This record gives sequence, structure tokens and C-alpha cells, in this order.
Amino acid sequence: DIGPRQVKGALYTWVRPEEQEEPDLLSVSRTALKDLGIKEGEESTEDFKQVVAGNKLLGWDNEKGEGGYPWAQCYGGWQFGSWAGQLGDGRAISLFETTNPNTKKRYELQLKGAGLTPYSRFADGKAVLRSSIREFVVSESLNALRIPTTRALSLTFLPHQKVRRETQEPGAIVARFAESWLRIGTFDILRARGERAMIRQLGTYIAENVFGGWESLPERNPADDGKNQEPLGTGVAKDTIQGPVGLEENRFTRLYREVVRRNATTVAAWQAYAFTNGVLNTDNTSIYGLSIDFGPFAFLDNFDPRYTPNHDDHMLRYSYRNQPTIIWWNLVRLGESLGELMGIGDGVDLEEFVEKGVRQEAAEELVSRAESLITRVGEEFKATFLVEYKRLMIARLGLKVFKEYDFEELFSELLDTMEALELDFNHFFRRLSHLSVQDLETSDQRKEKAGVFFHGEGVTGIGNTEDSARARIATWLERWQARVYEDWGPDGDDENRQAAMKKVNPKFVPRSWILDELINRVEKGGEREILDRVLNMALHPFEERWGWDETEEERFCGDVPKHDRAMQCSCSS
Ligand code: AMP
Ligand code: MG
Ligand code: MG
Repeated sequence: DIGPRQVKGALYTWVRPEEQEEPDLLSVSRTALKDLGIKEGEESTEDFKQVVAGNKLLGWDNEKGEGGYPWAQCYGGWQFGSWAGQLGDGRAISLFETTNPNTKKRYELQLKGAGLTPYSRFADGKAVLRSSIREFVVSESLNALRIPTTRALSLTFLPHQKVRRETQEPGAIVARFAESWLRIGTFDILRARGERAMIRQLGTYIAENVFGGWESLPERNPADDGKNQEPLGTGVAKDTIQGPVGLEENRFTRLYREVVRRNATTVAAWQAYAFTNGVLNTDNTSIYGLSIDFGPFAFLDNFDPRYTPNHDDHMLRYSYRNQPTIIWWNLVRLGESLGELMGIGDGVDLEEFVEKGVRQEAAEELVSRAESLITRVGEEFKATFLVEYKRLMIARLGLKVFKEYDFEELFSELLDTMEALELDFNHFFRRLSHLSVQDLETSDQRKEKAGVFFHGEGVTGIGNTEDSARARIATWLERWQARVYEDWGPDGDDENRQAAMKKVNPKFVPRSWILDELINRVEKGGEREILDRVLNMALHPFEERWGWDETEEERFCGDVPKHDRAMQCSCSS
């Protein structure tokens, strides 16, 4: 029975991808081929095409009924702050794990849009071409920007699939891969069902098989500059599954902190590159700390902290500026799932404990221990976030070291200026990379150069005139120039600084308007080459040129057309 059902006592189900008629391989990521250790040329074989379409199972012997068989994962999730019950891979099917022989990195390869699974709920197990193009390009773009993410190997068009959404649409499959597809939601479902032995099993599996062993999990927060030196979670807990565990609770606390640190680092990178996921439910929050599950995601165009790409997110829960808070909220859910193993009980609610029959005193002790642990891990989350955010912003500004006043005087003032003047976030940094500090000596020079940051139509934003806008940017440029001299010496070392900046400030990011145009041209115009062209730009975002038509390249890297800024997605994908 492959139909939708509740799967209890297990975290996955064996299930085979649907057979696809005449799959049409549209595009393959060269970087992904290399990272997986697939030999060049392999991607043009018939075998490759059939594997990434789900028609051929590698390692499975149909006659003998032996070998690796595909599976779909079970997980649950908190969606928009409410418990949603069992979710799971409703249209993703994992084929196998594979280790790159050169790097020894192991990945789990899965197909999205490959057909029904027990977790499909009321849906069809399919994916439309539109959303598949978006996921394919953005996965590889984030990776090229050095932001931890799940990856995409290939995009297959399914000419005979008619997928019903608002209208009938063509179907597609993305072959994607990751070090791990486990999510906070994987723990959530076990906690909700009281499957405590499996929480221990899953946590142990992650420590031993995903993170490379318990001993690889650091005891201390590498980012906390000497504060919080005391190890966390040393109290001896009664482990109600296997008796007193003593040291063992430390292991799970360390596991928890590792997941926290990874996610803190990733969300810092989202903020530094102005990427928004759009649906940060716990089922879309990775244990490995990857950007995962790309629905209505977007890069910001104009800097607007309240922006959300999700048309249905009226509360702005998943807006740009809320992302760090929301990731932390999700991580607290994980803390609750791991609570018993960390010796703090399975929740932080006093009433809940008392209702379960825990003595008042013992309950109070657990709650206070839980609060102090969660508070301190929360501090670690903030500290890790800040270290990474500062590191990335300092690099994006072309500086070498962070100085305490940079946060206020450079970062905050820049963000406020961008917001007030409606400047494009990622263009700002790339254009800043091209400035020579020697051209910023006088106030007039700075005001003149300020113009490079404007959109083609000039100055916008309430209350701004061209003069006031130029003056505001010029003031910021003066501070920036002073900091460049501090870090690079009295001549600013323009050549080296500019080169360093261009390596971290992309010329190309796949903005919503570009993905929209790409989808239109592939879907309606039947163009194919453009997919590889845009993917190539995403794979090498720091280049100046890509050997394609110069006008097209410059258009995709230039000002965002006025009416296409800050687009939103009401994703039925
Ligand atoms: P998402 O909002 O994309 O994170 O998806 C939430 C849940 O819905 C996940 O369990 C998905 O697997 C499932 N889902 C979304 N779209 C489909 C579909 N077309 N068919 C089956 N399951 C789906
Ligand atoms: Mg999801
Ligand atoms: Mg999804």
C-alpha cells in the first residue's frame, strides 16, 4: 500500500518512484557533478537520464529483489506556529547514498516530484516545472555563494505529466542531494507521538553517522570569546528509558548545540546576503544547518527588512528580519524533543510536568534547569550568529577586521540608508567593490560617486530628494573610506581590496524577476539554452562576464525593472 497513511514506529517507508514516460533532461549542474564525484560525460548517458528521472534504480536487482531500494522520510512539523501533525516526503523519494571518492563526502540523492508516497496527504506527489526551475537554480546559487544548502544535480522535464494546480501545468523532477535531509520536524513527530526510544536512536544516528562521531561535537562554543566557559548540562538526570545516564546527557546537549550552531551560521549568511526562505516551518529547518525546501524564497531587491516573499504570510512571520528569531523558535522545539536526553524533561512547562504526575519540587527543578539550559544555548545561538554575520559583512565591505563601532557606524547606518533610499541590497555591495577610495577624497567627489547606487529612474523613497540622498550616501562613504585606510594602509590598496570584495560580492543572484523570465521562456517559449546560461551565472556569481550575449548578461545583473521588485509568490508548487 503506497497511499497516504500515518506511519508509526518508523521514520521512513520503502517506496519506488513512479515510472516516467520520455523524461527530458533539461539541465545538469557541472558543479554538482564534480561534488558528487560523477565522471565528466556520464551526464549524457542514457543511464544517467533514466536514474535522475526515477526510471532506473541503481543497485536494485529487480529479478532477485535485492539491493538498495528507495525510501521516503517521515517527519512532522510546526507550520506558522501551529502543530501540523505528520508531514514527510510527500513527493520526494531518496534513491541512495553516495560517497565522493575524492572528497569522501557522503550525500543522499533524492528525486523531488517523483510520485506518491505514504506522506503525500491530500496532494499528488508531483512538482510543476515552474517551482522545479526555481529550486534547481537557487540551490546551486546559494552553494556558489558559500551558503550551506541542499543541492541540485539535474532538472528533468516530464512531457507526459499534466499536473493540476490553478491551471494544468507541465511536471518536472529535480534530482537533489544533501549531507542529510533530516529536519527539526523529524524529531517533532517522534516527540508528538511519545516515541522516546526513537528520539534517542535518531539523535545517536545523527551524532555517529551524520556529524562524524560524538567526539567531533565541540564542548565549548568556539564563538563565545571566553564567556560561558562552564560546560552545559552537567546535572545528572534520570533517564527514564535506560536508567541514570550521567555523562550521556552531556552528549545530547552537545548534539543539540551543534545543530544550534550550524543553523545560527546559516541564518547569519541569509541575513548577510539578504536571502529569505519564505516558509521557515520546523519541517523546513535542517538538522545539518542547510538551507532547505525552496518554496516562495527570494533574494531581496531593495532593502526592506519587513519583506517576505510569501504572499500568504500576512503576519510577516517569515519576513527577512524575523528569520533569526524564527530559526531560534524552531531550535527551541528541538530542545524540547531532546529535553529528556539532556536531563531537562521533555518540555519547559511546569503545568505539563505536574499533570504528568511529576512531584511539584522535582518539576520546578526540571523547569529551572530547562530554562537555564535553553537560555544559555540561546546566548550561544546569538553569539554564533553575530560572529558569522560580522565576518561576512566585514568581508562584503572590503575590510579586514571588525571594530566594535563598525556595527553601529557602518552596518546599521548602511542598512538604514539603504532602507530609506530604497537601494538594492546586493547591487550596493558589488558597486561599492568597484569604487576607488582615492575618488572619495572630497565631499563633492563622494556626492558624485553616490549616484552609482541609484536605480535607473533615480532617487525614490518618501521625503528623499536627489541632494539629500547623495548627501546621506556621501556621509556613509566618508566613514567607509576611513575604515578602508585603517585596514589597507594609507593608499587603500585599491587593486587588492577591489579584488577581495569581488570575491564575496556577487554580480549575479537569481532574483525573482529573473527566475520568472526564465520560467516563461522555458515553459512558453520552449527555449532551452537559457536555462544553462542562467545556471552558469548562478554557479559563478562573482565573475564579471560569462561568455554569453553581453546585453543579456548585463540586463540580468543590472537594475531590477521597477515593477518587478520585491515580487511575492503564492506558491502552489
Ligand atoms: P512544504 O510546504 O513544501 O514544506 O510542504 C509541506 C508538506 O507537504 C511536505 O510534507 C511535502 O512533502 C508535502 N507536499 C507539498 N506538495 C506536495 C505534493 N504536490 N504532493 C505531495 N506532497 C506534497
Ligand atoms: Mg517542506
Ligand atoms: Mg516544499
